[in-house]
Amino acid sequence: MRSRGGTPGFPLIWDAIVVGAGPAGATTALLLARAGGSVLLLDRARFPRDKPCSEYLSPATTDVLQRLGGGVLDAVERATHARLYGMKVVAPGGAAMLGRFRGASRPYSLALPRTSFDAILVAAAARAGAHVAEATTVENLAWERGAVAGVVARSRKGRRVTCHARIVVGADGLRSVVARRLGLVRYSPPRRFAFTAHVADVAGVDQVGELHVSDRGYVGLGPVGGGITTVALVLPLHVVRGSDRDYRREFFSELDRFPGLAGRFDPRRLVREVLATGPFAQWAKAAAVPGALLVGDAADFFDPFTGQGIHTALRGAELAADCLIPGLAHRVSTTMPLQSYERARRRAFRGKWLLERLIALGVGSPALTDRVVARLARRPDLADLLVSVTGNLLPARRVFAPSVLARLLW
Ligand SMILES: Cc1cc2nc3c(=O)[nH]c(=O)nc-3n(C[C@H](O)[C@H](O)[C@H](O)COP(=O)(O)OP(=O)(O)OC[C@H]3O[C@@H](n4cnc5c(N)ncnc54)[C@H](O)[C@@H]3O)c2cc1C
Repeated sequence: MRSRGGTPGFPLIWDAIVVGAGPAGATTALLLARAGGSVLLLDRARFPRDKPCSEYLSPATTDVLQRLGGGVLDAVERATHARLYGMKVVAPGGAAMLGRFRGASRPYSLALPRTSFDAILVAAAARAGAHVAEATTVENLAWERGAVAGVVARSRKGRRVTCHARIVVGADGLRSVVARRLGLVRYSPPRRFAFTAHVADVAGVDQVGELHVSDRGYVGLGPVGGGITTVALVLPLHVVRGSDRDYRREFFSELDRFPGLAGRFDPRRLVREVLATGPFAQWAKAAAVPGALLVGDAADFFDPFTGQGIHTALRGAELAADCLIPGLAHRVSTTMPLQSYERARRRAFRGKWLLERLIALGVGSPALTDRVVARLARRPDLADLLVSVTGNLLPARRVFAPSVLARLLW
């Protein structure tokens, strides 16, 4: 294992092994280590590493970063980044709406490359005392008396080790090995696939994120600082699987099929290769079983349209830590508070889950998207409300009020 950070030597049993050092895993490790737990944070990648993402931190994420302390928010604000003040959505028929973030002392989102953001969190976890082992892939789980008791991991040199822990946190993203080994993975429509790239000097980019919907899929784009725009092309899985086109090579010609995007990109200004990810949606039937918890995309990832994944990963980490820390302090190894984690997740995310799914399904229907976007274009107050809810600044129930639904649809 190539490792850095905190705890000298390996204990026989860690308080927690966290699999995956993305936002969910690094944040969980940071919080548990800061509370005095011995924490092993494993990732198959070496940081800094890229991650296919539109790299927008919904505005409420700033508050979570501030709560995390340890200089995390300062480091994010010192890194090259952009500020986005709202979201523009362009419907297949050409109608366009703009919603501004409302209801926050900082009514903007920070957007920065995942290479820097994720590395900031991993470094913070290491400073808090987590033992970070990079280039280490978890292949399997270790079991004792019907409960998860550790992981089987392989270093890049091929050395296989079994590490034991009181709790294993699966934070290993969309294709989580932990969730798969637990037999918890479920799929649901809409099934989509994404291609993301960094492009310099994109014409017409302003201080808002953009979402362009067509009858084929959608494109999300936004600045991430330094003259770079992150561009995500999201297509239905059947389109990608049913064709022999190489969407990575034909990325720019696909973008040109969206009327609001044609002519805005110079393919020679591609500054990072096109990354592919999917298929999604994917979610876990349960987020906690004896000896293990799932956090972030490993627990649920429906669709990137609303850009809430990083906030969910960080909030999920906070909820997991809240449930685990009392047990860590007393070195309780058997009765981890699994039910309370499931309950806390339902309370925190139920509205978001529903809204995220409805929007993800809705953008699959060009006629419905045209209709809703045209209404929102005429009602800036509603557009602000919807964008602020998906920015996690306001609770989802505000959108489900009958008066709001009626004005959106009729
Ligand atoms: C196209 C697209 C655009 C998106 N845009 C946005 C956006 O603008 N804003 C937003 O908030 N969210 C966005 N998301 C969602 C966001 O990327 C995720 O929700 C977020 O990355 C989840 O964080 P995580 O820590 O759960 O997982 P990840 O960030 O995926 O981290 C998982 C980590 O686990 C590691 N890992 C995986 N398997 C193993 C293993 N077997 N052993 C060891 N390590 C392992 C990986 O190397 C990785 O570092 C987007 C997603 C997609 C697909």
